[in-house]
Amino acid sequence: MYEDLFEKLSRSKFRSRFHLKDKDKQYVADKGIETIREHAEDLINKKIAAAFIANDGKQTPMKGHPVFIAQHATACCCRGCLKKWHHIKPGKELTNQEKDYVVEVIMKWIGKEMEGYVSHEKKEELIGQKKDGRSDREKNEEYEQLKFDFDNLR
Ligand SMILES: [Zn+2]
Repeated sequence: MYEDLFEKLSRSKFRSRFHLKDKDKQYVADKGIETIREHAEDLINKKIAAAFIANDGKQTPMKGHPVFIAQHATACCCRGCLKKWHHIKPGKELTNQEKDYVVEVIMKWIGKEMEGYVSHEKKEELIGQKKDGRSDREKNEEYEQLKFDFDNLR
């Protein structure tokens, strides 16, 4: 069911333009995926779930939180898009099932974006493992060098 949706989204020029930047991914890694899910639940409850939303179509910023970006990428940004893409009727409050579905779609997209991402802490840990068996000075130099390289990779 999600595969069809993600296939369709990938064919939309507008939707497929959205991606998490390195700083967004770092934020997700820092907060942990469960906290991000709580943020998503919170945002859906406050901005999307009500039967009537005065600023519908404008309630989701284009940046500032990974969930915002995921909402635009998955067409979970407003009731208009939920109707068009997910066949969820406007003019009534979202059911718990619909809220769960929307959060699941958002989290699936974030999960896909996070595939292969190595957090800064993890990189430093990996660098640490390579340093074993050398002098402290060598270790430090190598560490600084690797840190430098990672910073330039981005
Ligand atoms: Zn929208």
